[in-house]
Amino acid sequence: RAKSEGRNLYRFFEPAMDAIVQARRALEVDLDAALPRQEFDLDFQPIMNIASGEIIGAEALMRWHSPARGTVAPDAFIPVAEETGLIVPLGEWALRKACAAAASWPPGLRIAVNVSAVQLKSGGFARSVISALAFSGVPAGQLELEITETVLMDESKAVLKTLRQLRDLGIRIALDDFGTGYSSLAYLRRFPVDKIKIDRSFIRDMGNRDTAAIVRTIIGLGNELGIVVTAEGVETEVQLDMLHDNGCEEAQGYLIGVPSKAADIQRLLKARALHSQTG
Ligand code: C2E
Ligand code: MG
Ligand code: MG
Ligand code: MG
Repeated sequence: RAKSEGRNLYRFFEPAMDAIVQARRALEVDLDAALPRQEFDLDFQPIMNIASGEIIGAEALMRWHSPARGTVAPDAFIPVAEETGLIVPLGEWALRKACAAAASWPPGLRIAVNVSAVQLKSGGFARSVISALAFSGVPAGQLELEITETVLMDESKAVLKTLRQLRDLGIRIALDDFGTGYSSLAYLRRFPVDKIKIDRSFIRDMGNRDTAAIVRTIIGLGNELGIVVTAEGVETEVQLDMLHDNGCEEAQGYLIGVPSKAADIQRLLKARALHSQTG
């Protein structure tokens, strides 16, 4: 009886499973075609120094404008690109595009680029970073690479070596989504890190006493270790004030600026630079 019920269940689920597999396959096919068809673009979100109120740079965020699917969020396609390996050429494209954009910003501003574990583990990553810098003329000291904790999970020696090599060039390494991984503290000890970005879920819940305590503790930890702390997802003045009071150095979020087209961010950065020159 149990056996025949199992068979019935299988027959019930099989068409649904097929549909999922096919949809996923279709996504992979579209995604593969998207790079040569130039359907990808980068938006840029400003990052602010909290104490001075100055914009110190921007983070590049990938967008996929698919003619068939509309604009697809990175959370929906980056994991797929990581599985198929497309993230390697796609990530390299993003790095070059981001550096090219930053080359026309006022001097000294930083460009932050997200990097996937798959890229870090693929051979030749450091070389592709060096090439993107050389091609654009952006100094290494202005590039920041954001990696997520999950990326580092398997503490591979090769990844560590690549990170050290990049850092020796003057490139900054930021730990993205800090606090959401399994062993955030262990990573801080093991990897060369210049910055931590507190995950926006903590900032969102800062009204909660315990969460506020965690945020304060992360900021204190960063200060003790000489690591810059950036708060992600800052949406309200109340959050920004709390972060300021607790000594957080940088903020990013809709309150400061939404991700914007390259031309718009360039205009904003130039206007700000001019303003700060003239007083
Ligand atoms: P992330 O690097 O942590 O980027 C921050 C995300 O939070 C972005 O989502 C941004 O649009 C969003 N955000 C910024 N401020 C606020 C806010 O005030 N409120 C809220 N609710 N959200 C805010 P987005 O652009 O959808 O990107 C999602 C993730 O996709 C990124 O998280 C990053 O992990 C990944 N990603 C984006 N571009 C790239 C890329 O070029 N390469 C790789 N490997 N990953 C990328
Ligand atoms: Mg990021
Ligand atoms: Mg993040
Ligand atoms: Mg993220």
